[in-house]
Amino acid sequence: MKVFRGRVFSPVSDPFAGDPLKSFVYHDDGFVAVEGAEIVGVGPFREAPRGSFALTQFGPHALIAPGFIDTHLHAPQLEMIGSYGGHLLEWLNRYTFPTEAKFRDPGHAGMIARAFFDELLRNGTLCALIFSTIHAEATDIFFAEAERRGFRAIIGKTMMDRNAPPELLEDPKDSYEQSRALLTKWHKRGLLRYAITPRFAPTSTPELLEAAGQLKREFPDAYVHTHISENKNEITWVQQLFAEAEYADVYDRYGLLGERSVLAHGVWLTEEELDLLARRGARIAHCPNSNLFLGSGLFPLHHVLEAGVIVGLGTDIGAGTTPSMFTTMSDAYKVQQVQGVSLSPFHLWYLATLGGAKALSLDAETGSLQPGKSADFLVLDLQATPLIAMRSERATSVEDLLAGLIFMADDRVVRGRFIAGREV
Ligand SMILES: [Zn+2]
Repeated sequence: MKVFRGRVFSPVSDPFAGDPLKSFVYHDDGFVAVEGAEIVGVGPFREAPRGSFALTQFGPHALIAPGFIDTHLHAPQLEMIGSYGGHLLEWLNRYTFPTEAKFRDPGHAGMIARAFFDELLRNGTLCALIFSTIHAEATDIFFAEAERRGFRAIIGKTMMDRNAPPELLEDPKDSYEQSRALLTKWHKRGLLRYAITPRFAPTSTPELLEAAGQLKREFPDAYVHTHISENKNEITWVQQLFAEAEYADVYDRYGLLGERSVLAHGVWLTEEELDLLARRGARIAHCPNSNLFLGSGLFPLHHVLEAGVIVGLGTDIGAGTTPSMFTTMSDAYKVQQVQGVSLSPFHLWYLATLGGAKALSLDAETGSLQPGKSADFLVLDLQATPLIAMRSERATSVEDLLAGLIFMADDRVVRGRFIAGREV
């Protein structure tokens, strides 16, 4: 057994559903005990197990907290962060498609894969749901790199067969076969899972969505990862391309909505669509930084939650301008602030950890520091910069301490990362 000593904070339940002050544990001088890959104890240090075990003392200025979970981002877009100007559809054509076309070169894919996981880990993200490109080999490279790092990832080959440059289009049959081969190779191998990944309705013919639905029927426990209702022009376009009544109906028609379906954005969903998603159990990845950057709109978080839809947080790199879940929490706060709702640090931290795990149906495994879960945690340095040290020292409560980190912290604060009990 290994015992880690420091301050300990973890969400343990949903603050949106109950008393936020009862939704977390915090110990000023606490411990996390780990046996192999698993957490076996959490509490005040005076109650730590006694005996012969390896004790790591991080000190009073270290905060042990669950790893961050990014529920939506695009690995190939790392190099185009901050490509400015234009809303979604123009931005895709001007920047995204040329960047993604480069991934036919495995050398390029390998270089970006290494940089991508470096950045996630540097920023404290220990689990993520990830888009690749249409290239099977590049997708294989992303999986292999995740495995090499011991990273908990859900990845999928993007499926596209219309409304993009010819070099990014594929035949639905090839898309199905390549996706199937990757799925059978990587799904549930160690910490990895596969997501059937049609980019979004506008780049999919009914035949391609049918192929995606066929895969989902064959592999019901695989994920489905796509986008929905990010931008108003996108929604109008979907209505022109498909006969279904609304955007969500398109995915539903092909059997793509279920508990393992994660739809990015959902900024403009109608009541009927929210009701459909809730009935199917589909999840929304809210990406506030991206929504602001592309001017997509303000996500109505409480409205979506009240409809019964589970929500996680995503960076949406490269429309999101940062791999940091601190900045993503900060932007989530601001997006609600301008709509008249103040989210507490407990709500924000929940969305970035346990709530994200719930959105990915991984909450039995990760997302919080609780016995029986995988030992996936961060060691955060409360003295990482002079300003953070000053702010942390003056914090009047755990709530205030977390708020300071949400609005000021970055990768310099992340001092240690453990996944399944192993330092990475
Ligand atoms: Zn996206």
